[in-house]
Amino acid sequence: MLLFNPPAPDGRGFTREGRCTQEAGVWASQWPPVTLATAAAFLAGGGHEVHGIDFPALGLTVRDLEARIAAWRPDAAFWTTGTPTLAHDLYIATLVKAASPETLTAVMGTHVSVMPGEVLENSDVDVVIRGEPEGIIRELCRRGGGARESDRQTTGGAPSRNNRSEGESRAPDRAGGEGGGALFENDGKAGENSAPKSAGVVDAAGDSGGSIGDGRVGGGRREGWRLSEIAGISYKDAAGAVIHNPDGGWLPPEEIPAPAWEHFDLAPYRLPLSGRPFLIVAPVRGCPYACSFCTAPVYYGRKLRKRPVANVIAEIKDNIRRFGVTEFFIWADTFTADRKYVRSFCAGILEAGLRITWTCNSRVDTIDGETLALMKKAGLWMISFGLESGDDDILAASGKRITTADSRRAVRLARAAGVRTAGHFILGLPGETEATMAATLRLASELPLNIAQFYAAAPFPGTRLYEEATAKGWLKTGGGIRLAGAYGNTWGNAVNEAADSSSAHEGESTAPPGHPADPGAGQTSGTTPSGAGTSQGQFSPFSQNSAVLELPGLSAATVDAFRRRAYRTFYRRPKIIAGLLAMVEPGAAVHLSASLKRFLTWSR
Ligand code: SF4
Repeated sequence: MLLFNPPAPDGRGFTREGRCTQEAGVWASQWPPVTLATAAAFLAGGGHEVHGIDFPALGLTVRDLEARIAAWRPDAAFWTTGTPTLAHDLYIATLVKAASPETLTAVMGTHVSVMPGEVLENSDVDVVIRGEPEGIIRELCRRGGGARESDRQTTGGAPSRNNRSEGESRAPDRAGGEGGGALFENDGKAGENSAPKSAGVVDAAGDSGGSIGDGRVGGGRREGWRLSEIAGISYKDAAGAVIHNPDGGWLPPEEIPAPAWEHFDLAPYRLPLSGRPFLIVAPVRGCPYACSFCTAPVYYGRKLRKRPVANVIAEIKDNIRRFGVTEFFIWADTFTADRKYVRSFCAGILEAGLRITWTCNSRVDTIDGETLALMKKAGLWMISFGLESGDDDILAASGKRITTADSRRAVRLARAAGVRTAGHFILGLPGETEATMAATLRLASELPLNIAQFYAAAPFPGTRLYEEATAKGWLKTGGGIRLAGAYGNTWGNAVNEAADSSSAHEGESTAPPGHPADPGAGQTSGTTPSGAGTSQGQFSPFSQNSAVLELPGLSAATVDAFRRRAYRTFYRRPKIIAGLLAMVEPGAAVHLSASLKRFLTWSR
């Protein structure tokens, strides 16, 4: 079984993790692929031979992917996708089928979860995994085809567990390397919920026509994939009809395993400022909120699912022992939603005597000084808040359920506790004007933030913002997401041409210096803020780094211009620069200087 994060359209780093996708520049972060590593844990535990590879993290291209598929000929290939790279991500299926026609192709991610029918217009995509993917992948492989490792004859073409070299996955050393993860994110609060039905998905009417018992799948033939039995997938039957099985539900938190990082090369994953190696630990899944711009509920649902603290602490201990990593990004949709859980987590770290440092995200209305003090004691060094806007009416309309007063209080409490702060803002949400954007910039400048990100409101499928934008005709592209050219098989020629030509990366990531270009703010991101360095036509225009909404009285161009001004205003202050420099360690300094130069050029 092959699990991979596909190459980005322009060959650079790209993270795809549910609601969070982001392009990495030469210095921006690349996340360890926690979804893939968690799925790897399930599959390896089930006796499957598992191979994981993060192509963009390793600087590998579509040509490398083709070569590996041809050599390995996996029974199934599972890969992550994102809206900004969707056309390219789906074209990967054509490359896989060309290299290994019998390989089952399956995609996951928020966009494909809500538009599976459109995705299956690509005849080379066999299966769309809707929602939380790991349990569905486990079931698919358990009940379906795919040789167990114990069944397989060892062949010369079989890949090693480590895709870069033979032997075990290497623990990263502490020198040099790419900038690390996008560590600064959002928030949430506990609540009730149920698994939402994926938008546009119609359940299969029984199994009629849904079985692939004849083994015919997509462009190839695979025996034994009992697709009609797997909840949470969409696929095409033998006659080519699209079948949507019932939704798959969510994993019980006690069943969520620790990611099997040993299936991935961990060398590329570095903190952006210090250059230190880090890993993601995900203790909580789900978000009960309904922010208009966020796809989180599509991937992890609305119910807060908290893994047992003992499991999380054991995972951290294991990461320290096996990989030598002591820096962690505690990734959750809503980590501080349950403060009792957070305090228990911190107590677990302290009781175990773990000498680690970590960052996390939080909502501004789910944090207090006492909890922050304990988090600091347990190793928290930076906390990230989704502040979104400096205008209370826009906040209210977005469904975020916070106020600017909440933002002021939380950021100041964090700084009082000795914790660095990152704030994430969205420009161009409905109701935005030049005056409200100015209010947002004033708030960002007034607060004691170390880092700020200013995103363009991005109407991703699966969000209320997308529904409103399409209904009101706000999309710069006209029509809907389909105009991004993402579906069907026709897009592949453009990819081939791009891959064969010299990849002209004229621009680089232009996120602010020292910051890992975090997708925070509950959104996914894509092209660089200026659009430079990305080939238009390869990336979708739907990203939070380039405005796509033409709001009444506020053009997308105005929003983009203001974003540059906001970055310029926020970061060209001596105290901010001094604060960033204080976080830089020698191993990352050279890398960051190039980024700083690009940032200054972009924001000029
Ligand atoms: S931004 Fe997303 S993750 Fe954060 S509270 Fe809103 S819906 Fe939840």
